[in-house]
Amino acid sequence: MSSAGGFTAAANGASVPRMDMARLHALDASDPLARFRDAFALPEGVIYLAGNSLGPPPRAAAARLAEVVQAEWGGDLVAAWTRRGWIDAPARVGAKIAPLIGAGASEVIVADSTSVDLYKLLAAALRARPDRPTVLTVEGDFPTDLYVAGAAAGAVRRVSRRELIGALGPDVAVVLLTHAHYRSGEVYDMAAVNAAARAAGVWTLWDLSHSTGVVELDLGGSGADLAVGCGYKYLNGGPGAPAYLFVARRLQDHLSSPIAGWMGHAAPFDFSADYRPAEGVRRFLAGTPPILSLLALESAFVSMAGADPAAMAAKARRLGDLFLELAAELCPELEPACPGPGQQRGGHVAFRHPEAQPLSDALAARGLIGDVRAPDLLRFGLSPLYVRFEDVGRAAQLIRQALG
Ligand SMILES: *Cc1c(COP(=O)(O)O)cnc(C)c1O
Repeated sequence: MSSAGGFTAAANGASVPRMDMARLHALDASDPLARFRDAFALPEGVIYLAGNSLGPPPRAAAARLAEVVQAEWGGDLVAAWTRRGWIDAPARVGAKIAPLIGAGASEVIVADSTSVDLYKLLAAALRARPDRPTVLTVEGDFPTDLYVAGAAAGAVRRVSRRELIGALGPDVAVVLLTHAHYRSGEVYDMAAVNAAARAAGVWTLWDLSHSTGVVELDLGGSGADLAVGCGYKYLNGGPGAPAYLFVARRLQDHLSSPIAGWMGHAAPFDFSADYRPAEGVRRFLAGTPPILSLLALESAFVSMAGADPAAMAAKARRLGDLFLELAAELCPELEPACPGPGQQRGGHVAFRHPEAQPLSDALAARGLIGDVRAPDLLRFGLSPLYVRFEDVGRAAQLIRQALG
C-alpha cells in the first residue's frame, strides 16, 4: 500500500485501544433492525461504511436478476413487458419508495438518474411559472445540482445557508436544496423551509439523495412541492440504479416534462403522432426504463421489508452519535466536520484531516471502507440496515491504529 503513506508503517505495532465492547454488543443485541444485516451480501472481514456512495448488494438481487434474465426476459421475451409487469415497474417501485419519504403512492415514480430528474422538474417548474425566472439554491451544494440548475434556468441565485430564507423573492420559481448535505451531513428543517417558501410563493425541490433511508422524511405533511433522490446509496439499488422523483398531487396536472418522451404519453401504445401527457406523475417518464436495474432496486425492498423508517432514522442517528463520541475520545486528531452528537444529521459522519486520502487508503487496507471528498474530508456512511454498533467501535479502533 504505497499510497497509504506513513500510516500503515506508523500503525504497525500500535496497540489496539481498549473499548467497552460489551456495551456495543448489548446495543446490537437490542437493535430492532439487527436482523436486516443478513439480507446484504457483505464480504467477510470488511466494515462497509461507504453505503452513502454505493449500497452493497441485497442478497435478493442476485436471485431476482437471474430469474429475470432466464425466466422473464429469456422465457417470455417481448411479452414480458406486460406479462411480467415490467411496464408498471416505474410506478410500482415508486410506490415502495413513497412511505420512506412521506409521500403518497401516486406521487412518486422511478425514472432516469437524479441529474436527469432534477432537470425535468426544474425545467417543468420554470415553464409553469414564466413570471418567475430564477432558481434559488445554496453555495457548496452537490455539483450536479448546481450544474443542472444552471442548465435549466436563465438565472440561478446561490446564497449561503444563512441567507436562504431572506432570498425567497418574487422572481424565484423554485428553491433547490439537498436535504442532507453530501459533505457536512447538515440537514434542513424541511417543514420550516417549505413554510417560508410557500409564504413567498416559491416552490421547493428537495434532493433527498443523502436522506432517504436514514432521516425521517415527511414530504406530504411538511408541504413539499417537488423532490428527487438517488437509488444506489442508502436504497441499495445497485450501481447506476434509477432515481426517483416526487411531484405533489396538487401540482401534477400543472406541470409537464421538458422531455416529452413516449413513455410519459397518455397512451404510449397508440403510437400517436401527437404528444398528450399521461395523467399524474407518470408523465415524467421519458424513454424505456432500464428494467434490469429497476428490478434490482425493487429487490432491495424485499431485503428491507418490514424495516420501520422511524427505526432506521433513529438507529442511523445513534450510530453517528456513537461514532462521533468514540472518535472524540480515541482520535482527537480528526476534526469533526458534521453536526455533533444529538443534533440532526444525514446518514454519515465527516471529519477533516490533512492527509485524508492516505489515511482512508490505510483504513481500507485494514478492512474499513469509508471514502474521501477532496481535499481533506473523510466520510463514513452508517446505514442502519447492515452497520452494527460493534462495527462503529471497531472502526474507531482501526482509525486510532492507522493514525499511529
Ligand atoms: C449522489 C447524488 C446525486 C447523484 O446524481 P446522479 O445523476 O445519480 O449521478 C445527485 N445529487 C446529490 C445531492 C447526490 O448526493
